[in-house]
Amino acid sequence: MYAIRNISKCTKDCLCLFVCPTGATDTETGQIDPSRCIDGCRLCVDICPSGAISLMVENFPLRPKKDDEVISSLSELLDSKIAALEIVNGSTHQLMKALNQSLLILGEDCAREAGFMIPQDTRTIELLKSLVSCDDPQMPKDTIKKLLSMLT
Ligand code: SF4
Ligand code: SF4
Repeated sequence: MYAIRNISKCTKDCLCLFVCPTGATDTETGQIDPSRCIDGCRLCVDICPSGAISLMVENFPLRPKKDDEVISSLSELLDSKIAALEIVNGSTHQLMKALNQSLLILGEDCAREAGFMIPQDTRTIELLKSLVSCDDPQMPKDTIKKLLSMLT
């Protein structure tokens, strides 16, 4: 584990600086150097009066695998939300705008639950590759290629 600082809460009283045995915290830049943080000794966490410092794990556990049936149902649900969005999108009526927003949120939930919003998921990478090869001139292909190069 290593310490991280929420700079919006930091009052720069430098208490963490005084207690840190390795000099990992820098209140000028707001950074805590993870390479110098000795496995989250948490002295800085305990001394900070603003609750600005917390400990972060180095490796997040893998998400449990979902059944193919669950993923397929979520994908179908997402497709139905996209289809509904195509109908209400662009409407200026307040009710339609609210419906639009609700569909977007529901769609995001479905995509996230199905794993599409996890960057390292193979389906996300496949989706990005398919966007690069699509014919839509509006597609920001350079940005997608850059994203792909960071993920693969
Ligand atoms: S957890 Fe310990 S080593 Fe890491 S920054 Fe805080 S005081 Fe320093
Ligand atoms: S102890 Fe907390 S409030 Fe004080 S400088 Fe460190 S992070 Fe900021």
